[in-house]
Amino acid sequence: MSERGATTPPLPQRTLAEWQQLDRAHLHPFTDHGAIQKKGTRVIARAEGVYLYDVEGRQLLDGMAGLWCVNLGYGRIELADAAYSQMRTLPYYNSFFQCTHPPAIELAQALVAVTPPQFNHVFFTGSGSEANDTVLRAVRHYWTSLGQPERSIIIGRHNGYHGSTVAGASLGGMAPMHAQGGLPIPGIVHIRQPYWYGEGGDLSPEEFGLVAAQALEDKILELGPERVAAFIAEPIQGAGGVVIPPATYWPAIQRIVDRYGILLVADEVICGFGRTGEWFGSDYYRIRPDLMPIAKGLSSGYQPIGGVMIADRVADVLLGPGGEFNHGFTYSGHPVACAVASAALRIYREEKLIERVKTDVGPYLKQRWSELASHPLVGEARSVGLIGALELVRDKSRRTLFTPGGEVGTWCRDLCVENGLVMRAVRDTMIISPPLIITRGQIDELVEKARRCLDLTLAKVQADARFRIRS
Ligand SMILES: *Cc1c(COP(=O)(O)O)cnc(C)c1O
Repeated sequence: MSERGATTPPLPQRTLAEWQQLDRAHLHPFTDHGAIQKKGTRVIARAEGVYLYDVEGRQLLDGMAGLWCVNLGYGRIELADAAYSQMRTLPYYNSFFQCTHPPAIELAQALVAVTPPQFNHVFFTGSGSEANDTVLRAVRHYWTSLGQPERSIIIGRHNGYHGSTVAGASLGGMAPMHAQGGLPIPGIVHIRQPYWYGEGGDLSPEEFGLVAAQALEDKILELGPERVAAFIAEPIQGAGGVVIPPATYWPAIQRIVDRYGILLVADEVICGFGRTGEWFGSDYYRIRPDLMPIAKGLSSGYQPIGGVMIADRVADVLLGPGGEFNHGFTYSGHPVACAVASAALRIYREEKLIERVKTDVGPYLKQRWSELASHPLVGEARSVGLIGALELVRDKSRRTLFTPGGEVGTWCRDLCVENGLVMRAVRDTMIISPPLIITRGQIDELVEKARRCLDLTLAKVQADARFRIRS
């Protein structure tokens, strides 16, 4: 593709202040616009590997892989080439009304090869939220097609995240999202989350995992099993604060959904594509979901694309007695997005990135990350594969959180950015999810920067009477 010539686009010519001024009028997702007016936005101009560069050329180590998605790191020419070449061949065609195109067929085949064996069918969407809207409609259509339309209730979890469309936000259990726009929609209820650190009290993690799973059976019995269609959960809750369930949780959940014959939906939008050191979180926890929403790492974030993997049990009904499924998106199976995702899957395989997470960088992160537990602010340092969290607390021995919550986490997050590290805060839980290509040396850099920012946060905490800790 030499006819392209120079491939580096010219750097933007405006100053940071000019960019911020131009941006002021506009709305951003999940953003405090009051804070934008005061501080301005961070304007990222380019990226390479695990590093971001803002418009002033400042380098940041991206501890979040964008938004949990740039698993292959930035600057992947193979993915750019796949997009370029597909745009020239067929930039768009739809998959409605008995049409399709080779990139969608090839990606579907590649997904069937890497997903658990019950998955031989995929429905493409443009995002993770659309995948969860598809889940809601597919699950209800499934039970109606089987002559059980009263089986319509879907059980989710408090503090779960399944996206920001109306169905996605309803399936999720984020109270601030429900508070805006009259959510959840009818027919969706929530049970407690398996968050031992915050809610486990005096129970051991193993005991608490069983208690949290029992909440599902209690809810099914309360509603009447004949009315429950499905249970949806992330294998590890991401946006909720990287809640890693106790080892007893998922086996107990699997026993309960099997006992009542309800569908299990594992939202793999974050856990999928190697994050845990297995292809999917369902592989890591050895569960057998009936539906698996996917997105984010599917294209390594290079194109917006999602989908739902559909197990044979469900597909046999949807493809047979279900008749026409009156659902779909203009960009379902977008050819450019599919071509890029296929190229991404090739890289995961050829570079053995998932094995590398499991046997090399995942264990190394665990070792280095757990060292942070000795810091006076850190109550727990947990991780699986390349996803991790630090609980910032007032009293480590009693697991006492800061009140009011959220302020200390925000200080830490802002100090991280000032010191060249993107680490997110969920209330006072600091979270990371770096690109899977991160090296051991870069993990050292991440941990050292995190420690330095914890020290700076501690200094702020000790200077504030509301938060001061005795160590
Ligand atoms: C990000 C996310 C979604 C939503 O995906 P979008 O592409 O933002 O719509 C759904 N589920 C989980 C678990 C997510 O992390």
